[in-house]
Amino acid sequence: MKAVVYEGPRKVSVKDVPDARIERPTDVLVQITTTNICGSDLHMYEGRTDFETGRWFGHENLGRVIEVGAGVDKVRVGDYVVLPFNVACGHCKNCERGLTNYCLTAQPKAEWAGAAYGFADMGPWAGGQAELLRVPWGDFNCLRLGEDAEERQTDYVMLADIFPTGYHATELANVKPGDQTVIYGAGPVGCMAAYSAVLKGASKVMVVDRHPDRLKKAEEIGAIPIDDSLVDPVQAVMEMTMGLGADNGCECVGYQAHDPQGDEHPNLTLNNLVKSVRFTGEIGVVGVFIPQDPGGPDELARQGAVAFDFGEFWFRGQKLGSGQCPVKKYNRALRDLIAGGKATPSWIVSHELSLDQAPEGYQHFDNREQGWTKVVLHPDG
Ligand code: NAD
Ligand code: ZN
Repeated sequence: MKAVVYEGPRKVSVKDVPDARIERPTDVLVQITTTNICGSDLHMYEGRTDFETGRWFGHENLGRVIEVGAGVDKVRVGDYVVLPFNVACGHCKNCERGLTNYCLTAQPKAEWAGAAYGFADMGPWAGGQAELLRVPWGDFNCLRLGEDAEERQTDYVMLADIFPTGYHATELANVKPGDQTVIYGAGPVGCMAAYSAVLKGASKVMVVDRHPDRLKKAEEIGAIPIDDSLVDPVQAVMEMTMGLGADNGCECVGYQAHDPQGDEHPNLTLNNLVKSVRFTGEIGVVGVFIPQDPGGPDELARQGAVAFDFGEFWFRGQKLGSGQCPVKKYNRALRDLIAGGKATPSWIVSHELSLDQAPEGYQHFDNREQGWTKVVLHPDG
């Protein structure tokens, strides 16, 4: 089968790899029809992780079931399914508590959190930017879709990651009807957090970034764009909230944030977010913070420490939630919002490409080129 294979920093190629197949009775084999490139793939693509060359990416996957193992009894051949990016067993202590983002069985290393398809340090699971995907614990990990799945793949594929992840950010931040909410980052995740806040009935959603096309996307769904290359984002939020700050806020950027003040504060988003949210307000951090400087001189930075201004955070009496999204917790409800015509997350998609065009998709998306807001790949054509 063909797959998008990692060849080293900023180099992927579409190559023949061994076919995915049923290995255990609980496996499901999916022919992938839609699979996305994610901002999280860029951590590996840019060479900031120890993702091995020869492995392939892809954790935002949707497709048609073509074979099921003998122990699978809910999922059927022919079903269209979307796969939460978290690989989870369904039976461990964490899965039983709904924490599928921290499955203890699918992640073989005790010192790493959670498992995912096609990901560095998240277990041995192959990615879905390929023609076929093996889904372990298939009854648990497949979300079955309705009859409109084939025509609405670009909506439903967003259930694998960015729609529930954006929603999770707003849950961590406790966004409620009437709230004023600020989102840092207008990438696909930030746009989905803004969309979730709008769906929840927030009265004002402010989105900070500097890419005009991404800010325009956020504006299209009723958010207020704040361009941090033109204004100080904290001041802008203060002016829009009568000097009080937003009720809550979401961090959807991560450790690779650009630095509007040019003073090398790697986690400026977090500190700006704390200052943009009112005293006792709540914050959700879904942007990824992983080791900044593995080979550098600073011991704490090597271990992934960030210069978070805890004093300011404490002074304001705020609350903060963080981590990977437990996709399964949200994706039935979000699926039904899509099926019921109440949500159409495909508005974020800018490009639909064949699998063979993946290298150019990676290049443009990685450069955050104007107009490249979300890239969807179709391995079947
Ligand atoms: P992306 O890189 O496409 O988007 C990030 C956006 O943040 C860009 O538009 C960039 O211009 C903007 N940005 C950079 N510096 C900024 C700053 N200082 N202030 C405001 N905006 C700034 O990535 P994405 O796909 O949207 O993902 C965002 C983050 O979410 C990544 O770290 C990704 O790994 C993470 N993520 C987390 C989960 C989870 O489960 N927690 C799931 C998916 C993605
Ligand atoms: Zn993703």
